[in-house]
Amino acid sequence: MVMTLTLNNDVTLPALGLGVFQTPPDETRDAVRAALDAGYRHIDTAAAYGNEREVGEAVAASGVDRSEVFLETKIWISDYGYEETLHGFEKSAGKLGVEQIDLLILHQALPSAFDKTLEAYRALETLLADGKVRAIGVSNFMVDHLERLLAVASVVPAVNQIEQHPYFSQADVQAFGEQHGILAQAWSPIGGITFYRDSGHTSTLEDPVIVKVAEAHGKSPAQVMLRWGLRHGRSVIPKSTKPERIAENIDVFDFELTADELAAIDGLDTGKRGGPEPEAITLEAFGREIPEA
Ligand code: NDP
Repeated sequence: MVMTLTLNNDVTLPALGLGVFQTPPDETRDAVRAALDAGYRHIDTAAAYGNEREVGEAVAASGVDRSEVFLETKIWISDYGYEETLHGFEKSAGKLGVEQIDLLILHQALPSAFDKTLEAYRALETLLADGKVRAIGVSNFMVDHLERLLAVASVVPAVNQIEQHPYFSQADVQAFGEQHGILAQAWSPIGGITFYRDSGHTSTLEDPVIVKVAEAHGKSPAQVMLRWGLRHGRSVIPKSTKPERIAENIDVFDFELTADELAAIDGLDTGKRGGPEPEAITLEAFGREIPEA
C-alpha cells in the first residue's frame, strides 16, 4: 500500500508515482502497465514529453479504474498565456483521453516573460474552478518566482515539482513552499540527472554514503534515495522503463532510515544544480510547438 499525501485543497495523491520523462512513446504503454501492475497509482507526464497519449492508453487498457489513478501533466512554456493555456489543457486531456486531469502544473517559470507565466496560471485557476482539473501547481519555480506568483494568485499552487536528490536538495525552496502549503515534488529523485546527463556530478547510485546505507538495510541505492525523499515530506516520481526497476522503486515502504542515516544523506548536498537554470528559461531557447490532440 503506497502512502498518500494531502494537498492544500484536500485532494490526496499517492506520494510515489512513475515519471515518464525520456520514456519513448513506444515504450510508454509497457512502462505504465508495469507500474500499475506493481501497485503505482500516480503517473507524472508532460505535454513536452510527447507520450501523454500512450500514458492514457495504458491506463485505459489496464482494467484499473480511472478514478484510482492520479494523472499529472504539465503545460509547456510555448502554451503560456490565458487562452493558450486553456487550449493546452484541451490538448493534454485529449491525448490522455480523460475529461479531468488530477494535477496540472506549469512546467517552468518563464522569467523573461513572467506576465505570460501569470496568465498561464490564471488559466489553471479557471480550469480548477470549472472542475476540469482537481489541483494545480508549478514546477521549477524558485522562491522569487513563487513570491511573485503568490502576490497575484487567488489559488496557492498545490505542488512545486523541482530537482531534488541527495546532491541537490533545494531545502530553501521546499521550506518556503511548506510555509505556504505548497508540496515539494522531487524530480530526478534518485539523481537521474547526475548520471544520464553530464552534470559534473558522479552518479548518486555509486555514492559511498548511499551505498553503505543501502547495504545496511538490504536495499538498493535507488530505494534508499526514495525513502530519504519521502522522509523529507516530498512526493517522489522515479522514472524507469524496466519492469524490475519499476517494481524495485515502489518497494520502499518496509524500512526506515535512522536519524544518522538521514543526516548523512542530507550532508551530500553540493548546492550544484544538474538541470537547466530556471532563471535562464526563454521561449527562444526552449520553445517548441506542442501538437494538437
Ligand atoms: P530519476 O531520478 O527518476 O532517474 C531515472 C534514471 O534512473 C533513468 O536513467 C533510469 O533508467 C534509471 N533508474 C531508474 N530506476 C533505477 C534503479 N532502481 N536502479 C538504477 N537505475 C535506475 O530521474 P528523472 O530525471 O527521470 O526524474 C524522474 C521524473 O521526474 C521524470 O521522469 C519526470 O516525470 C520528472 N522530471 C521533471 C522535470 C521537470 O522539469 N519538471 C525534469 C526532469 C524530470 P531506466 O529507465 O533504464 O531504468
